[in-house]
Amino acid sequence: MRPLVATVDLAALRHNYQLAKQCAPGRKAFAVVKANAYGHGAPETVQCLSDLADGFAVASLEEAEQVRAVNADVRLLLLEGCFEPAEYRAAAELSLDVAIQGEAQVDALLNAQIERPLNVWLKLDSGMHRLGFTAAALRVSHARLSGAAEIAELNLMSHFACADERGHPLNESQLEQFNSLLDLSFAHRSFANSAAVLTLSAAHMDWLRPGIMLYGASPFAELTAVTLGLKPVMTLTAAIIAIREVPVGESVGYGAGWVAQRLSRIATVSCGYADGYPRTAPPGTSVLIGGQRAPLAGRVSMDMLTVDITDLPQAELGDTVELWGVGVPIDELAQACGTIGYELLTKVTQRVPRRYI
Ligand code: PLP
Repeated sequence: MRPLVATVDLAALRHNYQLAKQCAPGRKAFAVVKANAYGHGAPETVQCLSDLADGFAVASLEEAEQVRAVNADVRLLLLEGCFEPAEYRAAAELSLDVAIQGEAQVDALLNAQIERPLNVWLKLDSGMHRLGFTAAALRVSHARLSGAAEIAELNLMSHFACADERGHPLNESQLEQFNSLLDLSFAHRSFANSAAVLTLSAAHMDWLRPGIMLYGASPFAELTAVTLGLKPVMTLTAAIIAIREVPVGESVGYGAGWVAQRLSRIATVSCGYADGYPRTAPPGTSVLIGGQRAPLAGRVSMDMLTVDITDLPQAELGDTVELWGVGVPIDELAQACGTIGYELLTKVTQRVPRRYI
């Protein structure tokens, strides 16, 4: 097999979920496992957290079916809701909690003729302006749905636009919007993504919705995962599959943009952008070989990347190369590439085998 694997540390995953719960004692938490659990494998993630998690959250009915196949009973929230009456019937069959973010979804629910009532989460657009009702429109839908035969529980949720920027004025104003509905009766309220779980206790409400922190990455640009007490869950490792000497003045890789300034030892490593390693990683980006850092040399190719190991004379063919994980934090790589850990994790492709430890 090609020497490339994403190793998923299930103990770290459990640690991170427990940390989320410790941030907000007494509150419950939906573990967000959409996008194949941020690339970690939804079935395995759900299995691993099943005895700990109060619930899970997903983005689509297909993802919900995947979770239900592993756990038939756990509370499971469909974050974007249903768009057709038939989808509501499927949601009811799967015993989902369903977000409702617009009048069309209320209409579809009331026309769905579902066989059992649903837990519904009315979504307030508290300032992100992506999904959700205005406060006034939410009151109207609340009145329409209160006491309706289709409803088991009526709940309230919203989502932050800038919780990852501590002190951003929108955080306060979104909270104010949310709390302007305190006079309405809801079974439960939910607002906090990872950043808010970690730093905005006023937003903890009844149910947390942590995602990225479960996977051991930081939602904040300026706070590392380690500082936050998180443990990285995925370690992406490949191996050195070739080594060559490149004379001064010769280039390495596509575009011939990296030119050896000294007689250089170049290692070719079995991971490329078709595996999910970012093509935008600039020369100089660190990988870890034998516990020591070495810089990328040349552009990342589809199946390979190249590393300058001139300063690692002991490095040899077959050595393991950590591309991100415990030694190279994913947030460090993401920042070097102008992106976020979320994107790197969710872009690890199918052809990378996941190994669970
Ligand atoms: N809640 C909703 C509605 C989301 O869309 C997401 C993720 O995008 C989350 C919670 C989890 O966010 P995070 O991964 O930042 O914790």
